[in-house]
Amino acid sequence: MRHGDPPPFTGREEMPRARRHTAPMPSSFPLDFFEHVYYTLLMNELLTRTICIKLDVDGHEAVVQEAQRRFNEAASWIATVCWDERITNSNTAHHRVYGQTRSQFGLGAQLAVCARAKAMEAIKGVRKQEAEKLARWRKANARRQKKGKKPAPPPEPAACPQFGPRASIRYDARTYRLLPLDRVSLNTLEGRITARLLPGQRQHEMLCDPDWKIGGAEVVWRGGTYFLHVTQSKEAPDVTEVDEAIGVDLGICNVATDSEGEQFTGAEVRAKRSRFVARRAALQRLGTRSAKRRLKQMSGRERRYMKNVNHTISKALVHKAVVSRKALALEDLTGIRESGTVRREQRYERHAWAFFQLRLFLTYKAAWAGVEVRLVDPAYTSQTCSHCGYCAAANRHSQSSFRCQRCGFSAHADFNSATNIALAARQAANSSAGTSVATSPSPLRDVGT
Ligand SMILES: [Zn+2]
Repeated sequence: MRHGDPPPFTGREEMPRARRHTAPMPSSFPLDFFEHVYYTLLMNELLTRTICIKLDVDGHEAVVQEAQRRFNEAASWIATVCWDERITNSNTAHHRVYGQTRSQFGLGAQLAVCARAKAMEAIKGVRKQEAEKLARWRKANARRQKKGKKPAPPPEPAACPQFGPRASIRYDARTYRLLPLDRVSLNTLEGRITARLLPGQRQHEMLCDPDWKIGGAEVVWRGGTYFLHVTQSKEAPDVTEVDEAIGVDLGICNVATDSEGEQFTGAEVRAKRSRFVARRAALQRLGTRSAKRRLKQMSGRERRYMKNVNHTISKALVHKAVVSRKALALEDLTGIRESGTVRREQRYERHAWAFFQLRLFLTYKAAWAGVEVRLVDPAYTSQTCSHCGYCAAANRHSQSSFRCQRCGFSAHADFNSATNIALAARQAANSSAGTSVATSPSPLRDVGT
């Protein structure tokens, strides 16, 4: 595959993909890449999901490792060139780096294209993050200025992305092929090799699902094991345009409360979680090696449990929105960590990932069902009276109770917040004539639907 002219450059491999590397992720999000599927939502148009399947490269380890090393050296070099020369157009990049990628790093024509795609995507991600950081910084500074505070120092400029020798190899539709009997043919520097996929039953079904189009793939090496991450995509159904929205207040104590007064938590979840907390504390005090092992097992159990809870809740909420023909409204938490506005939930750092996971589940399930998700400014949703609009910290009596100091309206604090979220979403819809707020593409690890 090293000979021949460069393939006609169609830009097809630039199809939007999962931006796992770039999307904002809470620091406490467990990085378990061994989960089997994650879903991504891109601009409410294309749903993509990535199936992570164990890969048996038996007998080809050395070849794959060498391909990994060279591929990523090339990608790092391409990234540096495009970064320094500020090339953002993939066609320009292609002409600038293609020849040298092949001659200097020995990549075949197609892998050279893939390395360029990987480098460009990483740069785009870094630039986007940088722009978001700057925007947040400006916003925060404007706030500080209003309060007469000194401006905060600007964020550090971003660095050019680089890839290690064991980073992943990107494959597009021309550089790998799924074969019958769970085999896959992969392009390497030594020509094509055939490796064996080890999918579970559910993964197998997903691979064969005709509704989902198979796109590119990535060979990922983690913890001594190879995985093939296969990307699939599907058109999202059209979003139904509606005025009304169901406001959803997400929290730690009450996992979700909606503006129709339903609380999706129950004592059971809370009891189970506090049991987890107590047991963890006890094990941590012990500190022995076996205690550590138990801790690890337990965190897995807790994660699976919460994931299940999150699936159930998000499903119920989306179903409710579909049936009542309403949008879903959530607080916009973009950049909440950087801005320093720590909401009560984030104090429970340990559980923050579950909280974010529920948001993600809600977002993609809504897209799946054609339900619009509106994000509203979270400022003061918990202190404002949903009845008369009076806003004061004193309105919030305790974690759970709200009583308005002006009109005397009292309700569960989360229900009051959810109502405010619904009101804000309705207002936003009316004022902007129904422009929906784009949901940010975010990574999502998840098994099943
Ligand atoms: Zn009031």
